Amino acid sequence: MRMIPVGNSAKRGRLSSPAVDADVETTVASRLRRLGQRFTAGRRALVDALTKVDRPVTIEEILRVEPRLPLSSTYRNLAILQQAGVVHRVSTDHEFARFELAEDLTDRHHHHLVCESCGTIEDVEIPARLDRSVRAALDELARTARFRVASHRVDAFGLCARCAAER
Ligand SMILES: [Zn+2]
Ligand SMILES: [Zn+2]
Repeated sequence: MRMIPVGNSAKRGRLSSPAVDADVETTVASRLRRLGQRFTAGRRALVDALTKVDRPVTIEEILRVEPRLPLSSTYRNLAILQQAGVVHRVSTDHEFARFELAEDLTDRHHHHLVCESCGTIEDVEIPARLDRSVRAALDELARTARFRVASHRVDAFGLCARCAAER
């Protein structure tokens, strides 16, 4: 898996270098088509940027990864990609919204550690055995409501190591 720290602004010459997996590309294009939208260079660069980071990022951080993206269209494109089910907005009470690629576009089922002080969100992948226990617990909860669980999102809220050390 490629991971580029968000702090390193990638110096790249063009917007549309082929970092996005071909399968993902096809899926994204077809989801956009359903909305009557095209997979434009700007949207491609956005998906590209989200592929490169290893945690949910703010718009500001996206622009650090892809400095050539214009701010105004980035807001609009993110909204459209969200509507198409390509981008997921990770909920946080912090003032800055954070975005990631929809989990079904990645092969990485994961959970989030959300810092309620600085708003940073870390992705965490828990061992398969543990994730099965999470699923079993949710199945059991759902059974009483005769609800059938298809997937789950479990995020933990608290303080990141840096913020905890400051207290
Ligand atoms: Zn923090
Ligand atoms: Zn899980």
